[in-house]
Amino acid sequence: MGLEFPADAEQLVAETISNYGDYVNSAMARLYRFMGMATMEWTGQGARLIDVYGNEYINCAGNCVFFHGHSHPQVVAAVKQQLDLLPLSSRVLPHGPIAKLGKMLAEITPGKLQYSFFCNSGTEAVEGALKLARAYTGKSGVVAAYGGFHGKTFGSLSASGRELYREPFYPLLSGFTHVPFGDAQALEEAITAEIGAVILEPIQGEGGVILPPDDYLAQVRAICDRHGLLLILDEVTCGLGRTGAWFGCDHYGVEPDIMCLAKALGGGVMPIGAFIARPEIFELFDANPYIHSSTFGGNPLACSAAIAAITVIKEEGLVEQAAAKGAAIIAYLQDLQREFPDVIAEVRGKGLLIGVEMAKEGAGGLIISELLNRQVLAIHSLNNAKVIRLLPPAVINAEEIQQVLAAFRAAVATANTVIADL
Ligand code: PLP
Repeated sequence: MGLEFPADAEQLVAETISNYGDYVNSAMARLYRFMGMATMEWTGQGARLIDVYGNEYINCAGNCVFFHGHSHPQVVAAVKQQLDLLPLSSRVLPHGPIAKLGKMLAEITPGKLQYSFFCNSGTEAVEGALKLARAYTGKSGVVAAYGGFHGKTFGSLSASGRELYREPFYPLLSGFTHVPFGDAQALEEAITAEIGAVILEPIQGEGGVILPPDDYLAQVRAICDRHGLLLILDEVTCGLGRTGAWFGCDHYGVEPDIMCLAKALGGGVMPIGAFIARPEIFELFDANPYIHSSTFGGNPLACSAAIAAITVIKEEGLVEQAAAKGAAIIAYLQDLQREFPDVIAEVRGKGLLIGVEMAKEGAGGLIISELLNRQVLAIHSLNNAKVIRLLPPAVINAEEIQQVLAAFRAAVATANTVIADL
């Protein structure tokens, strides 16, 4: 691979964790120390994250960003080319990558979704979508779901459904009502004259990989149509192949009025987000193109990464790969659940969005730590302490999958021996 590692790795790690403690986030520094994490990330390739000592971890964490794996060569090459040409835009003259990316997104997204606004993150995509819906409907009320996660800026947080992250920041935006995810009747009952939009994830990610009943989204679509509401689907986690379909809503045959994207859109190389809507909803921008704007949003560098990311998904059949690999991993883990019911309560997911619900709350941290010892990275769910998530890149190969599954089996077997004490 020809990778170079620092000679003074130990000192670098000590310095880094100490600087985290003093200047970034002292609780994170404590957590790293508590988990015995005497290392730091250095580089990555494909499904593997490589630490400063050259140890390789299979990255099944990464919050759905690394659908293409680390540093996909085609995405990196596109970004390098754009870096030499024009990384950021004057914002006076038009530039090519944003226009090309807009066209590509209109082609791959369902139905009449056509116009895109580009930003830098998932939460910005959600903020923009909420503003657009309010301007279009003239109503400020929004129905969202308990357990939903949409980001942590004020609008997105108002839509998100876990008190732990909301309570210190009250008052949030007014007009948000939360209902149980998957219950269409509860959603319809929450609609008042002030409600203009519904925002949901097609499958809840941070909520603990919660799949709704098969007919739920279609019912929600029908309810929105009946009441003249806009349906905003937050595909920040599900979108662009993660669930084994281009978009989470494709599984349910539903077209949103506004869709939010981020994470995999940057191909694991650049941060970029977007919200996409039908032309009539975007008319807001006809009267004033600067009505919603972002200095860095839609910059040439990020757009060139996204163009390459979509091209790679098509050329390498990553959506199909996610479906096939995910089905095999889920089937294995479901067998493991039957073998160790005291550790694992349920395994669920679609494609490579996989949730493992622990039988006891404390077991999640133990499994993540045992996996880390076996050089596999997994992640907890922000809105559901009992569920850990496995989010492998679609480029993960057969050998790496075997390594992940063997590590998982060993981690669960270890947890099984200590579970009685949890
Ligand atoms: N929406 C969903 C469904 C997410 O999972 C996330 C992040 O995990 C966000 C929005 C927020 O994205 P970001 O962290 O890029 O702001």
